[in-house]
Amino acid sequence: MALDEFELIRRHFAVAELSFPAPGLVLGIGDDCALLEVPPGEQLAMSMDCLQEDVHFPAGCDPRRLAEKALRVNLSDLAAMGAAPLCFTLGLSLPQADTGWLAAFAQGLGDVAQQFRCPLAGGDTTRGPLSICIQVQGTLPRGKALQRSGARVGDIIYVTGRLGDSAMALPLVLGGDSALSDLPDADREAVLRAYYHPEPRVAAGQGLRDLASAAIDLSDGLASDLGHILQASGVGAEIDVERLPLSELSIPTATERDRLQAAISGGDDYELCFTAAPENSERIQRCMQELGLAVTAIGRIRESAGIEWRGAAPDIIEPGVTGYRHFH
Ligand code: ADP
Ligand code: MG
Repeated sequence: MALDEFELIRRHFAVAELSFPAPGLVLGIGDDCALLEVPPGEQLAMSMDCLQEDVHFPAGCDPRRLAEKALRVNLSDLAAMGAAPLCFTLGLSLPQADTGWLAAFAQGLGDVAQQFRCPLAGGDTTRGPLSICIQVQGTLPRGKALQRSGARVGDIIYVTGRLGDSAMALPLVLGGDSALSDLPDADREAVLRAYYHPEPRVAAGQGLRDLASAAIDLSDGLASDLGHILQASGVGAEIDVERLPLSELSIPTATERDRLQAAISGGDDYELCFTAAPENSERIQRCMQELGLAVTAIGRIRESAGIEWRGAAPDIIEPGVTGYRHFH
């Protein structure tokens, strides 16, 4: 059944699961603007990520999973800055107003919005090729943001969680039902979750505000994203390759080399990569332990530019691989 724009917003987006009250959100969906209140002494952090069909996700993919991913990757940027989520806005372009699709999409969004107490505060809805643009807003104490530019020579480099799960899952997700049907149910769900349910490390980011010197979330792969920290900080790095926490996703055809390459060059992990002075290492371990989150020291910041991958076969790093770049 077709809906007009206003009916669509009322029915699917201006609903309690998505547009619930939250501290700092004074006025949500329904007027010309949303109104936000930033507490004294705090700053507003904003970030936007847009997902296009056939570029960022396969055509025809499950709308509930798609919505989850779209909001999760945005929250990951707040996490990387050390910000606490406040609310988000949604720019949605749709080929048609399919109620079944919209209901599933809104459900996925609502699940994540509630998990992170981050309500939908407004947006725009238009007709066109499927694209999902989300902007998140968050807050953090003034001057406490974890920027890319703060890494210093001698700092230890850490990553949270495991690296490469999403890149390992990608060929199966793109292969669709036929590729996935060979896997046992539990493994198939793990593959889909690896790709569609990245866990934004929101609590970890906030815990690291006083401990880390620089941070980034891993969206384009370790080689590329650590490169951004190094460039912004004017330093280099050495990574102990055997320390990388490789994917443990159960994919029978995957070799160790595949897992290593996924960890180094694969995108879409949304784990945090951060640097910190060696004297903070105990406090970092304790902070992550309290959150039940694995953290691994993988190397060190050094003076000379670039990344030295210590202990890796020289051909493991494909020349020129620096993550996905649009228009490249
Ligand atoms: P305007 O014409 O003043 O820009 P709209 O008609 O686009 O307003 O939107 C009406 C209200 O619905 C606004 O409060 C807007 O933020 C909200 N809205 C529109 N699209 C969405 C959406 N996709 N998600 C959430 N809120 C939306
Ligand atoms: Mg208006």
